[in-house]
Amino acid sequence: MTTSVENQPVGTHSFDGAAASAAYRNALAVIGAVEPRVADAIGQELADQRASLKLIASENYASPAVLLTMGNWFSDKYAEGTVGHRFYAGCQNVDTVEALAAEHARELFGAAHAYVQPHSGIDANLVAFWAVLAQRVELPALEKAGAKHVNDLTDADWAQLRRALGDQRMLGMSLDSGGHLTHGFRPNISGKMFEQSSYGTDPGTGLLDYAAVRARAHEFRPLIMMAGYSAYPRRVDFAAMREIADEVGATLVVDMAHFAGLVAGKVLTGDFDPVPHAHVVTSTSHKSLRGPRGGFVLAQPEFADAVDRGCPMVLGGPLPHVMAAKAVAFAEARQPSFATYAQNIVDNAVTLADGLRKRGVRLVTDGTDNHLVLLDVTSFGLTGRQAESALLDAGIVTNRNSVPADPNGAWYTSGVRIGTPALTTRGFGAAEFDQVAELIAGVLEGTTPTTTSSNEPSRAKYTLAEGLADRTRDAAAELLSGHPLYAGLDLG
Ligand code: PLP
Repeated sequence: MTTSVENQPVGTHSFDGAAASAAYRNALAVIGAVEPRVADAIGQELADQRASLKLIASENYASPAVLLTMGNWFSDKYAEGTVGHRFYAGCQNVDTVEALAAEHARELFGAAHAYVQPHSGIDANLVAFWAVLAQRVELPALEKAGAKHVNDLTDADWAQLRRALGDQRMLGMSLDSGGHLTHGFRPNISGKMFEQSSYGTDPGTGLLDYAAVRARAHEFRPLIMMAGYSAYPRRVDFAAMREIADEVGATLVVDMAHFAGLVAGKVLTGDFDPVPHAHVVTSTSHKSLRGPRGGFVLAQPEFADAVDRGCPMVLGGPLPHVMAAKAVAFAEARQPSFATYAQNIVDNAVTLADGLRKRGVRLVTDGTDNHLVLLDVTSFGLTGRQAESALLDAGIVTNRNSVPADPNGAWYTSGVRIGTPALTTRGFGAAEFDQVAELIAGVLEGTTPTTTSSNEPSRAKYTLAEGLADRTRDAAAELLSGHPLYAGLDLG
């Protein structure tokens, strides 16, 4: 692979700009001949992404190699089953890419087993939950009944097993402490499948309190203990979580969707690496890991076969073009430059946190040691919704998020979540992230909630100080121009 981009920091994308430009120009010409509005939208999306200060903690920019791998005839193949054991003929090339993706994933994460078929993080979690139910509830019931397969059970035994499968418990991190909806909350299928209880964070420090987690686990005795988060700005001690799970006979499932890139890049190691400690690990491939949109599951040997039954248990047929792209992304993440990228993500988050704090912004847990920072914007008199919208007006893309014990609820919220993976891919470093902190703090200071007719501050409406949005946009554009996205890629 050659690079057309000289002097780009290690960890940004490296690709042949002329080859990628030709590939995309030709592809857009082919697409445009059928539906020009789609070709235009694809081009516009690149222009928009290039022009925005993307600070959404769950987003990134996949490499041209990953993106190109998804646009081909692998998309046409049905391939239910697993490598070498398909329910369809002609899957030899799908076998090649699925086996490669799984091998790269095992090597990258030091895992005993990898299942790369899940279409997304939610799907990966469902695969994991049903793998645990199969191993821990279904298998013992089959053994007790002297049956090998569920079809061999009597109607009465089957009815009893179905009730048992639907009568299990899950413990997970509460939503306002940073947990995820798929960890047993009612709006998600996991909350309808399991009786759920949550552990939170210390109200004073915002940090996970392992003694409180232990006490809750002993009281609740879950089948599945979830760890992992989408808005907790600190490392989690997975060795401690496994110890607690073992004490209560629970299966530890870690959802590393957000921080998989930091695990792959060996920034989270030892007790903070979930892979050696969890029975099952689930993930997305598109967030800090910088691959295609998708999911995957890593498992200890006991759960390997059950995990492999994900399709057709809860998944539709695998997406071979995306599994191929996962293989490419995992291969990229095995390069030494990815470790530099992962470390840069965290260094940049620390710089951003320091920069915000010194400009008077309150942070949940007072800082970060991963890829995200959680701002509590109540000291500016704002809700998360107002802050998110005001920042967007000024060209800064973030998302609002609950903070622990959030007084504004899950819709308006009191927080804004900010992540560094995407802009780190663009090559932003300490100087740029300090300026980003300056821009964010400036917008928050310059935003005033509108007063409602009853003289109460509105939770949605606001005004920005005169000219602030334009000034911030100009400053952001200047920052972005120093670090072009997909430099060398020219659609013509
Ligand atoms: N798990 C966690 C912790 C997440 O943050 C998310 C997405 O935000 C998911 C799972 C779901 O991922 P997907 O959108 O790929 O289904």
